[in-house]
This record gives sequence, structure tokens and C-alpha cells, in this order.
Amino acid sequence: MNTMSRSVLVLNSGSSSVKYAVMDPDSGVLVADGIVERIGDPRPDAGGVADHAAAMEVVFDALASDGHTLEDLGLVAVGHRVVHGGPDLHRPTIVDDDTLVRLKELAPLAPLHNPPAILGIEVARKALPDLPHIAVFDTAFFHDLPAAAATYAIDAEVAESWSVRRYGFHGTSHQYVSEQAAAFLGAPLESLSQIVLHLGNGASASAIVGGRPVETSMGLTPMEGLVMGTRSGDVDPGVIFYLWRTAGMSVEDIETMLNKSSGVRGLGGEIDFRELHREIESGDSAAQLAYDVYIHRLRKYIGAYLAVLGSVDVITFTAGVGENDAAVRRDALSGLTAFGIELDEHLNESPARTARRISPDGAPITVLVVPTDEELAIARACARVLAAGLGDG
Ligand code: ADP
Repeated sequence: MNTMSRSVLVLNSGSSSVKYAVMDPDSGVLVADGIVERIGDPRPDAGGVADHAAAMEVVFDALASDGHTLEDLGLVAVGHRVVHGGPDLHRPTIVDDDTLVRLKELAPLAPLHNPPAILGIEVARKALPDLPHIAVFDTAFFHDLPAAAATYAIDAEVAESWSVRRYGFHGTSHQYVSEQAAAFLGAPLESLSQIVLHLGNGASASAIVGGRPVETSMGLTPMEGLVMGTRSGDVDPGVIFYLWRTAGMSVEDIETMLNKSSGVRGLGGEIDFRELHREIESGDSAAQLAYDVYIHRLRKYIGAYLAVLGSVDVITFTAGVGENDAAVRRDALSGLTAFGIELDEHLNESPARTARRISPDGAPITVLVVPTDEELAIARACARVLAAGLGDG
């Protein structure tokens, strides 16, 4: 098998942007990456592109202007991030026409996320018809959550008829980071009980025993759980009915509010934690409350997962906020010495960008910061599919 020159094009297609990365799945080397934004923006002078097909052209142009031809990239597959795999799709799946039909049937479960991914797959299949296109699902890692964690306590017949369960998201990241944590500790994955805190614009927590998730904070959709950049996380479902019935908001209005103008932005006006901290320093009480609510929810989940797991070996922070925001890490874990959780202030403040320990030597629970790399995880998932099914590509 040629391990020198093969690579996977990883595409993450959103409604108005396409992120791409070309990676060598064997070495992990990033060959090229970028983002095409403002898809659908009719103003060309604003840097917009007409549609996803035009965005794909921009990706190829960007690769060419970096001196890459499709031939010398040695592409063996295109990996597509798909947010929702529904009840059945969970293994990385080579996309054929039948898979596309099944993905389209799932769109109502993830109306904001799956349709642009499907569009991205359709466009990329046309542009690169000779390569296998492999869908990798954000829900996959959590497919076998224990029933007690996956089941909502709602009318069982309704749940069954409409596939209402807790699916979990950010699975690619939770899996990758938990494996990296084990590797960093030099411990077998099977031996560890872990809590992973993926804190980016979207945010989710998971509890993992021996490499298998036993709980996660997102549910039917990526709205449940932690407070996020613009999403509310947990709310009483009664809020929705109250606003619909009494405030005259439509279901669409409420969905948009809970997704786009809630969370840290909804409370404090900012989505980016660097800005939020600046506002707090300047005495903005709304920003302070946003931060306090965010931290309170995070601590509740950490406490809950300590109880779910019984004993924990490692807690790992990842994604934009988790990797960079020392104050969030400190405030999420302060005062928990009785549970075996301590931070080394100096290590926590370190700006290092690689995997690192931030708890003191010998603390009962090891606390880590581990950078996530969903693109590499997707590229590796694709390579495994090729190795299992299609020879060495
Ligand atoms: P996404 O969920 O979009 O992939 P990321 O994981 O990239 O998001 O996280 C983006 C968020 O990370 C930003 O909105 C910001 O709040 C936070 N962030 C990034 N860099 C820093 C930093 N140096 N300090 C604090 N927060 C940061």
C-alpha cells in the first residue's frame, strides 16, 4: 500500500459556508485547508459565491493557486461531515444514490444542518465522480448509548413512531479527543473513565467508559444540554408552548430564537468568549450573567457525569473555548477538590497549543486540554472504510 501520497478531501458543508481540508490520513499531515463563505450572497463585491457548486469551484481554484493539482494530491476519497445520521446510519457510509435518498428522508430531524450537507455531497459527487464519497456522521459515536441515557421519558409509542431519542452530536470530536487523551496518558483506552467537554460555538459533554460513551448532553438535535454561543441548551419544554400560545411567536420564530439568538449571545450580546471577557472587564452586567449561566450549566453537567460514572480518571477540555479559555476551565472546576479535581494554575494558564495536562502531579483525576481535529478524524474514518471494503484505494 502506498502510504506516501494519498490524501482525503474532507468537506464540511453548511448553509452559507464550506470548510475543506486535504489530509494525509496516515501521517495526519494537513496538505491544504480553507473556508468558502458567503454562499448565496448575491453581492459578488462582498466576496460571495452564488451557490454550493460555485463554492466547490472556489475550493478547486484555491487548491490550484496553492500549486496543488488533483492528481498530485493523490485523493483517494472525499469525506463529508453529516450532522445527523438518524436511527440507522451510523457507520461511515459510502454515498450512493440510495444513501442520498435516506439522507434526504432524515432532513426533518436536522433541518438546519443536513440539507446543506446533502447539497455539498451532490455537488462534490458531480465534481469528483470517480472518487468514493463517504458520509461520516456526528451522531455515530453515540449510536449505542445505553438505553437509559438514549431514551426520553415521553410516550413510548410516539417516540418509536417518530424516532425520537437522544442521538448526541460532536461524536467525531468526542471519540477523537478521548482516544488522544488515552494516548497522551499512555493508558489503554479500555481502562479509562473519561469526561470530555467539547466547548466551541456548539458545546457538548460526554461520559465515556472504556472508549464507549455512556452519556452525552445533546439529544434529538444539537440544541439540548450546555449553554452555547447562540443556542440555549436545556430549557423547560414549557417555554416553547408558553411563547407559542401567549407571546404569539410561531414555531419557526421560537426555533430560530433558541438556535440563533440565545445562549451566550442571547444573554450577553457576544458569541466570542474573548469579547465576552472584555465586556465583563468593562463592567457589563449582562455579559457577566451570560458567563455565570454558562459556567453554572457546565458545572451541573460535570457533577452529573461524576455521578453517572462513579469514578473518573480524566476530564478533557477541547474545541475553541475549551482549548483556549483558561478562565472557563478554572471556573468550571473550582472548589471540586473533594471530588478529586484540582487544577495547577500555572499549567492551566499556559498558552501551549498541544495536548497537555493542567492538573497537578498526582491529583486523583487528571485534567487535560486536547486540541480536537474533526477533519483528521473524518479522513481516518474514510481510510478505514477504504481498507475494509475497497482495497487500498
Ligand atoms: P465551532 O463550534 O464553530 O467549530 P470552535 O471550536 O472553533 O467553534 O470555537 C469557536 C469559539 O472559540 C469562538 O467563538 C470563541 O468563543 C472561542 N475561542 C477561540 N479562541 C479563543 C481564545 N483565545 N480565548 C477564548 N475563547 C476563544
